[in-house]
Amino acid sequence: MTTEFTADSALRAMAKSSQTGRTSPIRDAAFDAVRHLMGAALPKGADAVLAAMGEAQALAEDLWRQVRATPAYALGTRPAACGKGCGWCCHQRVGATAIEVLYIADALRKRPDAAPLLDRLEAWNGGRPCVFLVDNACAIYDLRPFKCRGLYQVDARWCMSTYAKLDVPWFGPAPSHDYLMPPKDVFDGAVFGLAQPFHVAGRDCPGVDFIPALKAVIRQPDAVQRWWRGDAVFPAEVRLHDWFPPVKGKTGKTVKKRR
Ligand code: SF4
Ligand code: SF4
Repeated sequence: MTTEFTADSALRAMAKSSQTGRTSPIRDAAFDAVRHLMGAALPKGADAVLAAMGEAQALAEDLWRQVRATPAYALGTRPAACGKGCGWCCHQRVGATAIEVLYIADALRKRPDAAPLLDRLEAWNGGRPCVFLVDNACAIYDLRPFKCRGLYQVDARWCMSTYAKLDVPWFGPAPSHDYLMPPKDVFDGAVFGLAQPFHVAGRDCPGVDFIPALKAVIRQPDAVQRWWRGDAVFPAEVRLHDWFPPVKGKTGKTVKKRR
């Protein structure tokens, strides 16, 4: 992250940039910070990369904490409807980078309460909602992917009708599909900051469908080392072909296009 970055000035610049079409300084700050972190870890090997992934989570959360503590955020943003007990958004498919999935699998295996969660994951048969939605709360909240972290909608009815496919009989105004841009920018910037150093190095770090990808590696304690050596630890069908630009390298396979 550059030393010039302050969340308040970035938010104010972002408000202007949404009018002029320039990129978001918040997204750029998250991208740069995570890219440097992961780029420094790459030459050190698989264990360092895994550790950097945990640091990237903390770094992005800290950036988001800075952003939402600013007067500009309080003054310029509509309140989100999100809160514990509201999990309609967990009825959709979630994307994650391969390194996120490998990190989450490693951390989840080490948790003292892992056994019932691993059982749920192994019993998962492709249905919705997410297997980690337990009593309408995320059972892996501290580990959840960046894409889950960045989603804040202003109207839960929209999430009910769109994500959970419920027929919402609204009697007042139609549900708003507005979402908060600052958290999306923080965590989307972090996603691309994770993937970019791998792609520059010619290593394959695709976007994957989170739950089936996690299920594929959860019982493989050596998955990250095997992935580092170039083994295909994820089945081809969990790969998201529209996340990152094409790359070919020593472990790389072609990825078609960037969303
Ligand atoms: S994104 Fe929608 S469903 Fe998810 S917590 Fe927020 S309001 Fe609820
Ligand atoms: S990981 Fe957690 S936040 Fe993300 S979809 Fe699953 S239950 Fe929801």
